[in-house]
Amino acid sequence: MGKKNLDWGNLPFGYMKTDKRFVANYKNGKWDNGKLTKDDKVCITECAGVLQYAQTCFEGLKAYTTQDGRIVTFRPDLNAERMESSCKRLEMPVFPKERFVQACLDVIKANKDWVPPYGSGATLYLRPYMFGSDAVIGVKPSQEYQFRILVTPVGPYFKGGVKPITVRLSDLDRAAPHGTGDIKAGLNYAMSLHNIVDAHNNGFAENMYTDPATHTYIEETGGANILFVTKDGKLVTPKSDSILPSITRRSLVQVAKDYLNMEVEERKINKSELADFAECGLCGTAAVISPIGKINDHGKEIIYNDGKDEMGPVLNKLRDTLTGIQMGTIKAPEGWIYEIK
Ligand SMILES: *Cc1c(COP(=O)(O)O)cnc(C)c1O
Repeated sequence: MGKKNLDWGNLPFGYMKTDKRFVANYKNGKWDNGKLTKDDKVCITECAGVLQYAQTCFEGLKAYTTQDGRIVTFRPDLNAERMESSCKRLEMPVFPKERFVQACLDVIKANKDWVPPYGSGATLYLRPYMFGSDAVIGVKPSQEYQFRILVTPVGPYFKGGVKPITVRLSDLDRAAPHGTGDIKAGLNYAMSLHNIVDAHNNGFAENMYTDPATHTYIEETGGANILFVTKDGKLVTPKSDSILPSITRRSLVQVAKDYLNMEVEERKINKSELADFAECGLCGTAAVISPIGKINDHGKEIIYNDGKDEMGPVLNKLRDTLTGIQMGTIKAPEGWIYEIK
């Protein structure tokens, strides 16, 4: 064994079959013991609940090699808690938090040769997911479920340096008012696909969604939360019941307060305020922070960081601090880092 011989720095952000994945099955009202398996194929009935009525949810987190060569992962307990909310909302059984965390650690350990080396910019992405696996034809929850965690090495999100992106304010919605916007359900992504393809066809990297009831307040993009920095250096992030509670955003808010002594506001942000901010960015597990250079509001452009072709200084500091915590060069708050031994 030993590290896989991959061109770590040039990996795409895509799927690659690795050695082992975790699989557990729920039947007759309980979860089995679960196991690590080489088998990457899922075998379910043609009438499975996931295939007919999209009864599925997922999570995303990463494992890293630290500067001193340890393998770690970041706050998997929060992914377990968020998946619990997703499952409850979709009438799916909860995979217990302690078991979720242990399965993450086990699957990383079983694939440790696939964890990219420190400094490559690449990471091992973990994708826990659950779906209804038995036959349903009338609309009702499945009786049987499968919980799996696959892992795949992914390349640096920004190859050749971080470049600010241009997003558009969207006329379509990603979530209904009082709907499922605050859970990580596959269905939220299925319905966003048309709009993201249309955005790309029109030269935009992402859609920025507003609140679905009134289209007045900023919410998030299809797969990332939004951060703003005021001209006097305050971090401002939208508050709403229909945005997904990003673990990266919650961590950055704490980093801003406790490490950088910044003021933070979590509040409704009217789209009329967009032009008042100095910096804007997206945050999520994939890129940590990606800078937004421009928001296009139906032809009117709002420009951040004075139109410079780089991340603004405040977001850059936030990103460096959080990635330092993840990579072990900055001391982490208690309980954030789980080491795989
Ligand atoms: C997963 C996701 C995010 C980012 O969450 P992290 O926990 O930071 O990765 C943001 N918005 C949506 C809609 C998501 O699905």
